[in-house]
Amino acid sequence: MSLRKHKFMSNLNILVVEDEEAIREMLIMALGQNQLNVTAVASAEEALKTLADKTMDLLVLDWMLPGISGVELARRLKNDPHYKQLPIILLTARGEEADKIRGLEIGADDYMTKPFSPKELVARIKAVMRRSGKLNESGQISVDSIVLDPEQHRLSIDGKTLEISPTEFKLMQFFMSNPDKVYSRTHLLDQVWGRSVYIEERTVDVHIRRLRKILAEYGREDLIQTVRGFGYRFSITG
Ligand code: CA
Repeated sequence: MSLRKHKFMSNLNILVVEDEEAIREMLIMALGQNQLNVTAVASAEEALKTLADKTMDLLVLDWMLPGISGVELARRLKNDPHYKQLPIILLTARGEEADKIRGLEIGADDYMTKPFSPKELVARIKAVMRRSGKLNESGQISVDSIVLDPEQHRLSIDGKTLEISPTEFKLMQFFMSNPDKVYSRTHLLDQVWGRSVYIEERTVDVHIRRLRKILAEYGREDLIQTVRGFGYRFSITG
């Protein structure tokens, strides 16, 4: 495995939803070998719980699941403003064209027919992640002269590394991945802290204040804007 590939993949959180244990285990092993962080569950219900707790970068979702089906889960997620950006690769045992069209119509980003090679799935994951623009080849996110390296947990402005705490780093990572949009405190809590943790909304304000203070040392406190009555926005245009 090349270093480059390692760097690209290692900070991605993949949620696998598959009720067949043998396939689930195979996916955990194959994706893990490619340095992806894998969480695997057996049902859509468990997937929803997991998503509420942890920010995922991509969902590998089996079409046929007991309870809420994979297709139904994909449809719900793509209609939920919290999750509609989450890329989904659907897995199916049937290779019918009608299924493929249906899967893509509800918003799945890609589709694979069983049996498939783990190698191909990894390639598809990579392609979907690239298309989503979430990560570039090196894994770094850059906006203007600000560069965030998730692997090294490093944030720099004009080549100078900032002293930043893990929470502020995560906030910045969320903002830089989702620029120019206004996010409520509740949304930021869900995305950065996770839904299962009970934290008061004003905690967000405290961390935003700290982050702005750090950015102010580089004359860039304007990057994070308060939108009165709504929340915060990260934007280089001001
Ligand atoms: Ca199944």
